Formats: sequence, structure tokens, C-alpha cells
Amino acid sequence: MTILLDGKTLSTKILIDLAGRISAQNAKPKLAVIMVGDNPASQIYVKLKEKRAKAVGIEPLVLPLDKNISQNALLEHIDILNEDPAINAILVQMPLPEHIDAEQIVSRISPFKDVDGFNPINVGNLVSGSTPYAVPCTPLGIIKLLNEYKITIAEKNAVIIGRSNIVGKPMAQMLLDRNATVTICHSKTKNLKSFTQNADIIVSATGSPKLITADMIKQNAVIIDVGVSKLENGKICGDVDFENVSYLAGAITPNPGGVGPMTIAMLLENTFRLYSQQTK
Ligand code: NAP
Repeated sequence: MTILLDGKTLSTKILIDLAGRISAQNAKPKLAVIMVGDNPASQIYVKLKEKRAKAVGIEPLVLPLDKNISQNALLEHIDILNEDPAINAILVQMPLPEHIDAEQIVSRISPFKDVDGFNPINVGNLVSGSTPYAVPCTPLGIIKLLNEYKITIAEKNAVIIGRSNIVGKPMAQMLLDRNATVTICHSKTKNLKSFTQNADIIVSATGSPKLITADMIKQNAVIIDVGVSKLENGKICGDVDFENVSYLAGAITPNPGGVGPMTIAMLLENTFRLYSQQTK
């Protein structure tokens, strides 16, 4: 029988536990969220983060900035937040407008307050085996989900589709650290199926709707669907053809209800982690 990797239920459990720890310590963690422009999807994501943060006892501070803001003005906002002792964690909602150099922005966030784990110091620590101040939320949530359902990672063939700094690369590192044999595929990979068919674990993070079909996976494979795409009819769709793949898979994330809620839970876990590091 296929196991449904229920991120909604697990994330609720994690958030209840987190709220308990925050309240027990009478802690006052504060998360700053910078949002540039009025991208409708970003607005929805930020509202949700704000709501979940408040629910666990984390104070959100949302900074909506004009879409035409200059690189320097945005950097100045980050500098102010970096220096403000009341702010424990900083997040810059992506995507940023075209004229902004996102890499420079992310690098400017203090590694101590870098809740997404994207600052080069945190990335370097993850890759070199040192402990980062925080690790990227989506892959961290996936590891928690695999652990919760006691899915063995060591000695497994893991295929990751997508090589972004946000999901694919840190996911590869985190599975490698847990002794999986990792292959990263991307849009220039020839014959994707030849890789996925040998995979015990597939993490697909492309934003290409229904890219992963039943003929691409082996029986009992573990399928993690990170992708979120909006179809022309307005419906949200993942990277995996869930209806057909779920018959063959040993375990699979629903989408929605799998990776998404885990990502938000890890964002709030990371906020409290940074707070604890700063106040110990
Ligand atoms: P990204 O930066 O656009 O990267 C997408 C990656 O997928 C790239 O490496 C690209 O290859 C690869 N790719 C695209 N189409 C492909 C195809 N047909 N075959 C093989 N590889 C393909 O995106 P991202 O930020 O990593 O996010 C990926 C998806 O996950 C998006 O849909 C995003 O909305 C979603 N997401 C969801 C969550 C969540 O919490 N649920 C969190 C983060 C992201 P190249 O490098 O060659 O271009």
C-alpha cells in the first residue's frame, strides 16, 4: 500500500510543539519579511507566513517595498534589520524584480539572521559539513518528512530534479550527508527517465507540471513533489502525475499538503533556532 507523506499533519504537530517551546521560555522571536512589489503569489505566501508565525508566538514584521526600489535602497533596509537587536530572523520573499541582483541581496543578510540559509556562509557551512546557523527550509522539511515516516535514506539512490540554490542543491547535500547516492538532473539532462527509473527516492523541484509520469519510476520508489505551477485554468499543479504515479510508489507526497506546509513549519523552526542562538 502506498504511504501518503502527509506534510499537513506533520507540520501541524511541529507547529504545536514549537508554540509550546516558545511559550514555555516566554520567548519573543521576531521575523522580518521583506516583500518587494505586488506579485500576487508572493502576497499570498507572505500572508500565510505572517498568520502561521503569529499562531506560534513569533512576531512577524512585514516590510512591503515599492517594486521600483533601487538595489542600494534595498541593501540599506537589510542593513537596518541586520543591526536591529529586536529582529532575530530576516527573509526576503522571492522572486525579486528583474533589476535587483538577488544574490547580492541574500548575501547581505547577516548569516546569524539568515532564516532561509541562503547566505554564502551558511551555504558553505552546509557543504563543508560544519553547522550552518540555519539550513534551507524546503529541503529541511523534506528530511523531516522522510524521518517521520522512517524512510531510510542511507545507501539509497536519490535523484533530484532541479538544481536551484533554494531546493535542488541543498537537498542534494542533505541527502548526501545522510549517505544516499545522489544524482542531480536539470533541464539539460538527456533522457531523464533513465535516471529516475533507477531511483529509490525522487525529489522533483522543477515547476514543470506532471513532468514525472508512472513510466519514469520504479515500483515502491519514494516520490517527493516540490513543484508548484499554476495552470491556464487557474488550478495549482505539482511536478508529479499523482493520480498514476501513486499506484506504483511506495510513498508519495500529496501536492498540495506535502512539502508546502513543511516549508513554512521549517521557516518558523529556523526563526526560533536563530532566536535561541542569539539569546543563549
Ligand atoms: P527554479 O530556480 O526555477 O529551478 C527549477 C529547476 O528545475 C532548474 O534547475 C531547471 O533546470 C529544472 N527544470 C525545469 N524544467 C525541467 C524539466 N522539464 N526537466 C528537468 N529539469 C527541469 O525553481 P525552484 O525555486 O527550485 O523551485 C522549483 C519548483 O518548486 C517551483 O515550482 C517552485 O514554485 C516550487 N517550490 C515549492 C516550494 C514549497 O514549499 N512547496 C518551495 C520552493 C519551491 P535548469 O537549471 O537547467 O534551468
